[in-house]
Amino acid sequence: MSLYDLEIAQWKQLLSAEPSYRADQIWQAIHKHAIRPEHLTSIPKQLRDSIAKTADLAPALSLVNLYTDDNELTEKALFKLDDQRVLETVLMHYSDRSTVCISSQAGCAMGCKFCATGQQGFYRHLTTGEIVEQVAWAISRTRTKRGSRRLTNVVFMGMGEPLANTKNLFKALQRINVDIGIGARHITVSTVGIIPGIRRFGKLNQQYNLAISLHAANNEKRTSLVPITRTYPLEALLEVLADYRRTTNRRISFEWAMMDGINDSDQDARELIAICVPLQAHVNLIPLNPTPKWPGSGSPMARVRSFSRILEMAGIVTSIRDNRGTKIAAACGQLAETHVTLGGDEGLFAAGSAKMDLSGLLD
Ligand code: SF4
Repeated sequence: MSLYDLEIAQWKQLLSAEPSYRADQIWQAIHKHAIRPEHLTSIPKQLRDSIAKTADLAPALSLVNLYTDDNELTEKALFKLDDQRVLETVLMHYSDRSTVCISSQAGCAMGCKFCATGQQGFYRHLTTGEIVEQVAWAISRTRTKRGSRRLTNVVFMGMGEPLANTKNLFKALQRINVDIGIGARHITVSTVGIIPGIRRFGKLNQQYNLAISLHAANNEKRTSLVPITRTYPLEALLEVLADYRRTTNRRISFEWAMMDGINDSDQDARELIAICVPLQAHVNLIPLNPTPKWPGSGSPMARVRSFSRILEMAGIVTSIRDNRGTKIAAACGQLAETHVTLGGDEGLFAAGSAKMDLSGLLD
């Protein structure tokens, strides 16, 4: 249990001896303004001190290191959790917005071959509090760095597969949207294609964005890059996405990490178009970033542009993702527990095992 794991009802119970508005006052401070109770001067000092001394009300994340890149417009925070696991959160400032990329698990069981987190294996799901606290950190950091600027966007594209952790994810989404006040259309959940999770996500009936880490548009190639394809083949994934599109009327986007000579040919583009057209999906092209155990490299920018042109000529809305934080390993696919040795054990489940046994890995 930690500061952001407590529900409002639990705060009310805990503060039952205080005036009835006290719990709401603290709840608003920690969510909307990202101010810790011990710094909240509008509550009595005695109460501040007693909250500060209560172990269950301590923050879950302790900052181990902060790395910066892109003239300080990109920051990567490395946090330690109380079981010594670590996670990474990346904050990116643009001229018109500030976006935080947050983690949903310590490690990841999906084993995508080109991804540093996937190369490392799975340790555990993050709690709702651990997820929400990353956003609170980003709000407070944005305030420090950018004055009156508010954090505008939240993307679940950090460590872990969010739709393998739906129970905690859905509660966190509600908190980020309702209690912190970030509009649902400014919150994106990215998944590798966990079909039961996509169904549940669709049933939330909210305006959140859904992004699919696709990377290849036929089963054979996709299995070699994204092993979960064996469990959830493309045909089944596309069927559930068509359902999602029909029932929510929300646009889907596909993430496509451009890998030199692997998934960047004209034929790859044509296969992708065939998938996008019926779904009216958008595509984000991401020049692949280097990771320790992946021998391949990113496509040259000229190739990325011509791939993009082929998609656009077929009417697919396509963008080329700005590659932020490559020098500090904060870019897409680069997040991992590689910067500190806090235990040194292998992930509980080895990454990318040939047969994806998901028992115990999905919530
Ligand atoms: S790309 Fe995402 S789902 Fe795949 S291994 Fe990395 S963190 Fe997990």
